[in-house]
Amino acid sequence: MLKKYYLLSPGPTPVPETVLAKAALPIIHHRTEEFSNIFMEMTEGMKYVFQTKNDVYTLTCSGTGAMESAVTNLFSPGDKVLVIVGGKFGERWGQICKAYGVNAIEIPVEWGCAYPAEELEKALKANPDAKAVLCQLSETSTGAVYDIEGFAKVVGKTDAILVVDGISGLGATPCPMDQWGVNVLLTGSQKSLMIPPGLAFISFDDKAWKLVEASKLPKFYFDMKKARKNLAKKTTPWTPGVTLVIQQLEALKIIKEQTMEGILEHHRILADAVRAGVKAIGLELFATAPGNILTSVKTPKGVDGNALVKTMQKKYMAYIAGAQEPRKGEFFRLAHLGYMSGFEMIIMISALEMTLKDLGYPVTMGAGVAATQKVLQEEWK
Ligand SMILES: *Cc1c(COP(=O)(O)O)cnc(C)c1O
Repeated sequence: MLKKYYLLSPGPTPVPETVLAKAALPIIHHRTEEFSNIFMEMTEGMKYVFQTKNDVYTLTCSGTGAMESAVTNLFSPGDKVLVIVGGKFGERWGQICKAYGVNAIEIPVEWGCAYPAEELEKALKANPDAKAVLCQLSETSTGAVYDIEGFAKVVGKTDAILVVDGISGLGATPCPMDQWGVNVLLTGSQKSLMIPPGLAFISFDDKAWKLVEASKLPKFYFDMKKARKNLAKKTTPWTPGVTLVIQQLEALKIIKEQTMEGILEHHRILADAVRAGVKAIGLELFATAPGNILTSVKTPKGVDGNALVKTMQKKYMAYIAGAQEPRKGEFFRLAHLGYMSGFEMIIMISALEMTLKDLGYPVTMGAGVAATQKVLQEEWK
């Protein structure tokens, strides 16, 4: 059979055709007025996504580069920070801190679960010398979202700052930086922002800039003071991913047309539709605090979770994501973020039903698809 590739992973995500087409145009030079105008328009658009008046800096790297630049620009050797670890990306914060000699106190959270803001308040009281709290908006490895608004409230009462990794979450679930009082917010280009991998974005408020001024950790490529100086001149310190910047501007046009409210509502509908399908198949959600970015689903008893993901990918070319180590096979992740429409949700649930049947699991073919269709049809606007 002629097979078609369906990218249904929580990053990278599909890219709109109008955005893809931009990559076919000639490369323009970055030290020109033409590029500066594009770059500044893109930066303004990104401020709309971040819902902030602060500057947003564009970095040419994947999301982890923005995480690393947060750590190296905010802290000094031996600084103490609290890290909320409820999955692989929480772990990554801890690993970056360790690499740079920052004393990360890890707060373990059960995978897929919420972490109450009251608990964070207690942890901050027990660690009054903590400079920051590092966490995710959406813990993409489990599908859980955290109460960033609640975290910002309790952190705001202290001298510490809240640093939020919004990679995957920003643009799919609410996180208005200024309104909630998030001190540092960052994201990557290949998840909810609808362009290929390769750009990351980061923003600091005034409270965070004070830490940047005092930071003694080594930095060069990701020096935010250099980025600030250059942004004032409508440019970047180094050659940026020129094509990606042009593509991001194009993708932001779609976000602006839809409005942030519209985009967030779209993700809510896709999440509801997928979950209705999953439940109609008779499967259970993995995360107890699921967000609208992706849905993690427990592998049913008697089914090999790795075989499930492999079959969906190899046989049906439906590229969902499995769970990562050490929980590999235990659950799988159905993505509904970025440039995905309702019909992709039907494809995903349909491929899941066919795969489960292939693996000998009892399914009523079409039950999940019908439930997904029902939600989509009722909510389709
Ligand atoms: C994808 C992701 C990352 C890692 O980003 P890269 O672009 O792969 O470096 C970090 N945090 C979260 C929450 C993510 O979803």
